[in-house]
Amino acid sequence: MDNLRVYFGSLQHAELTIACVLAVSLFGCTPTAENTALMAQTPAPCSVQHQTTDEPQLDDMAPQLPAAETVRPLTSEQWVLKSGQTFSHLLQPLALSEQELLRLAELLSPYLAPEKMPAGQTFTVKKQQQVIQSICTELSFSQYGCLQPSEQGWQLELQDFTLTNAQTVKQFRIDESLFRAASKADVPLAVSNQALIVLSHFIDFQRDIREGDEVTVVYEETQRNDGSRQSGQLQAITFAGKQHQLQLYYFDKLQGGGAFYHQDGRLAQSFLLKTPIEGARLSSKFGKRHHPVLGYTRVHKGLDFSAPVGTPIMAAGAGKVVHASKMGSFGNMVKLEHGNGYTTLYAHLKGFAKGIKVGTQVKQGQVIGYLGNTGLSQARHLHYEIHRDNKAINPLDMKRPSHIKLPDTHMARFAKVRNELNSLKKEVRIAAQQKLPEELQAE
Ligand SMILES: [Zn+2]
Repeated sequence: MDNLRVYFGSLQHAELTIACVLAVSLFGCTPTAENTALMAQTPAPCSVQHQTTDEPQLDDMAPQLPAAETVRPLTSEQWVLKSGQTFSHLLQPLALSEQELLRLAELLSPYLAPEKMPAGQTFTVKKQQQVIQSICTELSFSQYGCLQPSEQGWQLELQDFTLTNAQTVKQFRIDESLFRAASKADVPLAVSNQALIVLSHFIDFQRDIREGDEVTVVYEETQRNDGSRQSGQLQAITFAGKQHQLQLYYFDKLQGGGAFYHQDGRLAQSFLLKTPIEGARLSSKFGKRHHPVLGYTRVHKGLDFSAPVGTPIMAAGAGKVVHASKMGSFGNMVKLEHGNGYTTLYAHLKGFAKGIKVGTQVKQGQVIGYLGNTGLSQARHLHYEIHRDNKAINPLDMKRPSHIKLPDTHMARFAKVRNELNSLKKEVRIAAQQKLPEELQAE
């Protein structure tokens, strides 16, 4: 019943996979795990290569060679950038001149700054009789580049990966936490984050989640011909819980941006999040309490969330940064102004997210800083406050989303999007029901 996937338009990929398998068997090279990994990393959708070997092999450039010519061995090696290693250091064993290395860095720099290459960046080096034929690497999710020597010096050839867009549906039951259940069902982190933000407008993750509550997510996913995937926008979420029943749909008004809506077109998000942090435990509530550091009772003007140091903290709503620096007992603090007399405050941060300074405009859910233990704080936590007209209010009492509805001009298109998403979810439900007896039989 968990972990179901529905793909559309991915036939192309299936065909490619078949083509690769055929090529392997034609050229008589057994697809070992090593080979398969190489093929997966190799930019060309279908090519047969060997790790350094003396055995004569046809390579993917073979068609360019006259048929009668002796086939020279082509070797292909994977070079992986280690943490702290530079691009030129990695390629040192290739015995290229300093000018050549500079040229290579220069060619790559518009796509991939050599000084910012991440550890793990992989280069496929192909040689024929010790002469470099190409050095290929991934430049982005959709593009790769091959550095090739020529009479005019080194050149960069750009090529696109074959991409297929799909909609993925996953359904899972909550056990310990929504976050953990989503991760077990193989829902990408970026999708779980979107789901948590959407649901947090309705659900208090401390009080409203019960074991067995069921969640269905539909999200965009781009699949590459080597099998890699990249998730995109969460498009629909269904929460079938004991406390809450929700069906929400993402709809892009094009002008005015995208947001989540109920079945009937009512806007499904409030302008401030109750919980500006994911996976955290509410460690102290709003109201009177005994202060652990000061040792006397006073009013706690916000909520405390406990989570590991460095956990990202999100802007509760769209707004402007009005404070982002040390502030006495609050330590590193961010304050945001949201309009209509509302401000939010985030204290004891370890540090600020890149670009967060007074005057910066932020979006709802954007990371503004990281959980820490600065200022007058006994243990690592986030202290979060919401103010309305300069008076602290309990974030858990924030009003439910307003009754803003999609204008009539958008309703027809919204209904179409909603119905398509509903039928996708239905297919998965039917598939899951059909799958169940088989599983029982297996046991
Ligand atoms: Zn606090």
